[in-house]
Amino acid sequence: MTSTHEDAAVPGGPALTQERKLVTEIPGPRSVELQARKSAAVAAGVSQTLPVYITAAGGGILRDVDGNQLIDFGAGIAVVNVGNSAPEVVSRVQDQVARFTHTCFMVTPYEGYIEVAEAINRLTPGDHAKKTALFNSGAEAVENAVKIARHATGRDAVVVFDHAYHGRTNLTMAMTAKNMPYKDGFGPFAGEIYRAPMSYPLRDNDAAGTKLSGADAAKRAISMIEKQVGAKNLAAIVIEPIQGEGGFIVPAPGFLPTLVEWAKENGVVFVADEVQTGFARTGQLFACEDENIVPDLMTVAKGIAGGLPLAAVTGRAEIMDAVHGGGLGGTYGGNPVACAAALGVIATIEKEDLIGKAAHIGELMTERLTTMKGKFPVIGDLRGRGAMIAIEITKPGTIEPDAATTAAVAKAAHAAGLLVLVTGTYGNVLRFLPPLVISDDLLNEGLDILDEAFAAIVE
Ligand SMILES: *Cc1c(COP(=O)(O)O)cnc(C)c1O
Repeated sequence: MTSTHEDAAVPGGPALTQERKLVTEIPGPRSVELQARKSAAVAAGVSQTLPVYITAAGGGILRDVDGNQLIDFGAGIAVVNVGNSAPEVVSRVQDQVARFTHTCFMVTPYEGYIEVAEAINRLTPGDHAKKTALFNSGAEAVENAVKIARHATGRDAVVVFDHAYHGRTNLTMAMTAKNMPYKDGFGPFAGEIYRAPMSYPLRDNDAAGTKLSGADAAKRAISMIEKQVGAKNLAAIVIEPIQGEGGFIVPAPGFLPTLVEWAKENGVVFVADEVQTGFARTGQLFACEDENIVPDLMTVAKGIAGGLPLAAVTGRAEIMDAVHGGGLGGTYGGNPVACAAALGVIATIEKEDLIGKAAHIGELMTERLTTMKGKFPVIGDLRGRGAMIAIEITKPGTIEPDAATTAAVAKAAHAAGLLVLVTGTYGNVLRFLPPLVISDDLLNEGLDILDEAFAAIVE
């Protein structure tokens, strides 16, 4: 299907075929050797999900130093939506890197930065006038969205949600919900961050077992905000339209629109953190589109540049322009090579209809995982959108998290050559984020591996 990716190869090495291949145990001996060097040379705080060392990657395949080829259901954490070696990204990066690698956009600018800003302004929801600023990482984009919202409103407070993940810098650690591993021992954290209750359909039952509607979940959050923060003190609400690290939590329909409406009535800047959901991942270019909401500001990163470090804050021109000249920026923000990659990503999404492809992946996975959910009662919930799908593992018939089974299934999948990621506040969510250019054959083979792993572990 994705023949353009089948020839991605290491210079001088064999072609990267789109097939799973196990020639050693996972990890193999050369990976084990490298991991020992890693342990001796790299800080212990930087740890690995699966320590196989990669030499080539593309389409839906990761090849390691031992010659194993793994199926990739992680995409470098929702980054390589276009694949790890998309031809249009590779060629544009090669061209740019040979012309110049850096000048600093704040010193002597270049056109690529403007082209990326124009593209994002055009592609993000809403037909109002927009402006964009570029940065290096998701956390940096979120920090800058908060800076801009505070400056534009003259207010301090920021509301975030239970299960939120916004990054690892000091301000974004304060905004992130989960203690381990993100925050433990790293305080004190930035002030004026307030946490509101999220809409989490699996866990939002009232005493009678009735699900809380999206609108009612929003009212619960708004009531907390009004009582504990005060609307007139609030600069911004920052929320992921589908929570990523929190466990792919999809809020009940109506939750986001109700919050947007309330923010508008109260002069609060509504910031959608689309760092993980953006750039075709959910079967739309941005997840906000599914709820027809138009955020005031949006943060994007991960999927934007095929793995080169790039991030952006985009939004209403009058809010973005509230900040004085020199108030935003950074040495590397909007690096020319990263901008070339982003333009390659955007061209690839359009040329290969990756929005349609994400929707197709969502349908295929949902159908197969629905069958598995019927077979294995430990699968307590199946949720997500497009190529951002997860299953939450619980003790059968309850909502009690089962992190041990989750870890065991992930381990079995890894051993069989399928990279899956575990996430969620309770460590009991298996999330699937394949590159959007993966073939149906690899998707189905990956799902077969999962099915067998569940059968072996829970039956
Ligand atoms: C990954 C992520 C971030 C942080 O991005 P980095 O590039 O790792 O700093 C912020 N918000 C969301 C929703 C994310 O998924």
